Amino acid sequence: MKKIFCAILLLTLTTCLSGCSDESKKTDANDIPTEVATGKTVDAKTDGKPDTKSDAKTDDAKSAEAPPEVKPTVQAQEGKDYIVAADDYSNLQLTDATIPVYDKYTLWERQEKGLPVALPQLAPYEAESTVYLTFDDGPDDKITPQVLDILKAEGVKATFYVCGNMVDANPDVLRRMFNEGHAIGNHSYNHDYNQIYASPWSFMEQVIKTDESIKNIIGVRPFIVRAPGGAGSMFTANYYSMVDDCGYVEHDWNVLTEDATPSRPNASDQVNNVLKYLGEQPPRTVILLMHCNGDKTETVKALPEIIHFLRDWGYKFGVVTPMTPQPW
Ligand SMILES: [Zn+2]
Repeated sequence: MKKIFCAILLLTLTTCLSGCSDESKKTDANDIPTEVATGKTVDAKTDGKPDTKSDAKTDDAKSAEAPPEVKPTVQAQEGKDYIVAADDYSNLQLTDATIPVYDKYTLWERQEKGLPVALPQLAPYEAESTVYLTFDDGPDDKITPQVLDILKAEGVKATFYVCGNMVDANPDVLRRMFNEGHAIGNHSYNHDYNQIYASPWSFMEQVIKTDESIKNIIGVRPFIVRAPGGAGSMFTANYYSMVDDCGYVEHDWNVLTEDATPSRPNASDQVNNVLKYLGEQPPRTVILLMHCNGDKTETVKALPEIIHFLRDWGYKFGVVTPMTPQPW
């Protein structure tokens, strides 16, 4: 029964993604700023009449002036800084919680090549007390680089659940995350609950679109996803089935700074919130939710102290992979 569901799922996804890519572009162009969606800015003075003279001039100027595009390369080394899944997933049972795992194929390419899509059963990594610092909603070009600077200074790896529209807007920051050995996870394309949670298909469409943005920049795509808003009232059992069947693993959190709550706690309160969630018997696996975009300056201020006391308590710092235990 599960195999039949999976076959139908992939057939539908194939049809959708190969047949409706134009349609999804239309939708996304409505969702995100035009300059991000198209790479161009719209001329507000356009009156609807073709201006062939100025178009021709612009094109000529472009061909004369535009330097050849040099695509930045990634410096992270496969095998040392990250692991790439084997075609048959046979190398995924890792014993190291500090190395991110990616796929060189999109879900799509796996399906076209007849490779397995759903992940095999993997024993969770529980060898040591491990904290997984996770940062959602980036990358931006202000807060995320500050977070990366702190992680670098502390010698700590973390996990960034990124949104596709932020990736498209800040590719250099994504590349930096990857080069510095952090794990990159998928957090939908535009974080718009109304669209993402219209149906499991809508959710998966955004995940796949975000994978494409990520893979364009770093050459690989994640297996890990985090549902915007977390699992629960919107990300229900049908969404879990969809994510599983498509070979992704969703992780929520068990500790948070509450940095995205309306009260916007300051750095000191954020540290206290982490202590509150850890409680008197801190869990062996801590998945700590923070954010790295917008106005999260207090998160940046709180981060060094959070790292220091977790380290003092004996936690190792890991990155989320398909082997990471669920936080509950
Ligand atoms: Zn989010």
